[in-house]
Parts: sequence; C-alpha cells; structure tokens
Amino acid sequence: MSWESHDKYKPCRCGLGFIVETTRSDDWNRFEYSTRLECPECRKNYVTYIYDYISSGMYEQATCWVDRQLYDTFQKKEERLKETKSRLTQQFNEHMRKEYLDKWVALFEDSPYTKKAVWEKFKKYKLTSYSYKTFCSKTDKQSLSQFVENQVLYENRYLILSAIGVESDSFLESYSANLMEHQKARDNARREMMQSSFR
Ligand SMILES: [Zn+2]
Repeated sequence: MSWESHDKYKPCRCGLGFIVETTRSDDWNRFEYSTRLECPECRKNYVTYIYDYISSGMYEQATCWVDRQLYDTFQKKEERLKETKSRLTQQFNEHMRKEYLDKWVALFEDSPYTKKAVWEKFKKYKLTSYSYKTFCSKTDKQSLSQFVENQVLYENRYLILSAIGVESDSFLESYSANLMEHQKARDNARREMMQSSFR
C-alpha cells in the first residue's frame, strides 16, 4: 500500500515565502491534509492557530496563521474567562449551600435514609434518570447523606429551587450577566485576531 503526496504552494502574507499545503492519499481513498508556513519573515509576526469548527455536523480542524500580538491578547482574554467561570462557579455553589442546603436535606427527612428512598426522591425531583440498579452502583462507595448534600450545586439550581419551592434567586441569575462580559471580551479579541489571519 502506498501513499501519494502532493504539495501545493501559495504565497504567504508578506510575499517572500510560501504556504505549503500537502495532501496525501492512498489506494484506499484515505486522505490526509497538512499545511505549513515556509517564511522566516512571516514566522516573526504570525503564529499558528488551530481550531475546531463544525461542518455538516462533524468536528473538523482548521489551521491558519494569526498576528502574534492579537493571539496573545486573545489567549489572555480566554484565560481570564476560564478563571472567572471557575471563580463564579465556586462562589455560586457556596451561595447555593448557604441558602438552600438545609431546606434540601429536610426534604429527605420524612423517610428512612435508604438508597431506595433517596433514589425515589431523586426521581421525583428529576435529579436522576438512572435505574435503581445503576443508582445503587453510583452511590456504592460514598455516604448517602453526603451524596444528597453534594447535589446542591449551581448547575442543579433549577431542580433544587423547584424542589424546595423557591421561585427565583436574583443572585443566581446574575451569574450569566457576570460571565457574559468576559465572554464578549474574549469573542471580540478572537474576531479581531481572525481578521488578521491567513491560510
Ligand atoms: Zn512571508
């Protein structure tokens, strides 16, 4: 079985070098594609940026070159967004526990603390879609009361609040608004970086 390789040369951004696109194919109609920048001048100002995109429902990868400084700015905003998300999630989880843990745990006090009773409550409040058997295997190695308490998380806010009969919590709702600002900054930095790109 042999691979055939074909190179295609395109001018780079500054015009002194090339972008080389290599396509390889074999007898089985398998294709491989790669691209590289052959220009010392462009390499000073541009960095490789590889990203995923969705095409006809499939994940594909694309390679391009983007301005070095704009890339740094984008990376910083991306980092900032991640940090903010993790900080906010922790803060909002703490808020959930402080405000709602006792009320949530109280919902389990009317019946004996057995796996069956807890599973039935979880089903009722839509916190699990597991069968009883699967639920048992998931809770095998941890304490049942700890498992119940651990559900009080920001990501479960709608289910927990609805279970204990709280209609809304404006603090929890501010999470998205807080995050949105950082998302916007990241998206803007990416847009600006992509405007500088070439492939
Ligand atoms: Zn160049």
